[in-house]
Amino acid sequence: MTAEIINGKDLAQELRMAMKEEVAALIQDGITPQLTVVLVGDNPASRSYVKGKEKAASEVGIDSSLIELPNSTTEDELLKLIQKLNEDAGVHGILVQLPLPKQIREQEVIEAISPSKDVDGFHPISIGRMITGEDTFLPCTPYGIITMLKSRNIKIEGKHAVIIGRSNIVGKPVGQLLLNENATVTYCHSRTADLKTYTQDADILIAAIGRANAITSEYIKEGAVVIDVGINRLDNGKLTGDVDFEGALEKASFVTPVPKGVGPMTIAMLLKNTIKAAKGLNNVGK
Ligand code: NDP
Repeated sequence: MTAEIINGKDLAQELRMAMKEEVAALIQDGITPQLTVVLVGDNPASRSYVKGKEKAASEVGIDSSLIELPNSTTEDELLKLIQKLNEDAGVHGILVQLPLPKQIREQEVIEAISPSKDVDGFHPISIGRMITGEDTFLPCTPYGIITMLKSRNIKIEGKHAVIIGRSNIVGKPVGQLLLNENATVTYCHSRTADLKTYTQDADILIAAIGRANAITSEYIKEGAVVIDVGINRLDNGKLTGDVDFEGALEKASFVTPVPKGVGPMTIAMLLKNTIKAAKGLNNVGK
């Protein structure tokens, strides 16, 4: 079997074209969606993610602004800035790029963002609403993954979805969204004994580990749908996923590449959330 490749770059481009029209209509009604991104410190990877987000936002007509703060910023200073942005009616979405310097507690910062502007979907109110299945801002990477599956009409209901990774931003929420779609979900992590036993039974396999090419073809069930979330930089400078792509191509029915897979979809979903915020569709906890 040769798997079909789900190209996240192309799908994200299609979504951006549709969003461009949505934003143009909003602007006609006097609302220009505004996303404010806060970058603390000089992490090169964070800087490059932020640039990608700004570029995508401007492509669809979302107004984005970047606030850059030095590495020495205190938690108090950052919290005060967030408070100001929360109160600014011209700001619809607030994104604080993670990770933060070690003197700043990330959870404090996440919880300081108004849930009505929480376009990253990391606030406990957003997470709680996701778990209860209510309308909310969904975290961008898991939301992007579900959108990729749906774009190919991949059946989720009744399928066994195995997630490798249990982070708060990827593993846990993607499992929850799949559960909401009536999959049977298994979470695996670094303490899982005999990982293969689980992955070999997966109809939908999500790898969110952060280890280059760790998931080789013997982990994959024939015909499975394989979603590779990992972004790993090799010594030669190239980016690669958590899945051995060539091996997956031979065994899976669908596979996502890295790059051009989940990454661009994550950004597209951030734009979707920003438009939702501008429309005032998430009024909880204002
Ligand atoms: P974390 O480091 O927070 O989580 C990694 C998870 O993998 C942990 O739950 C860990 O288990 C588990 N793990 C580590 N080693 C193994 C192993 N040998 N076997 C099984 N499980 C293991 O990472 P993130 O969730 O933030 O990100 C995961 C990957 O996805 C990274 O490469 C990251 O760069 C990428 N990413 C990509 C995004 C995109 O847009 N494409 C967005 C966000 C992340 P334990 O909990 O026990 O430690």
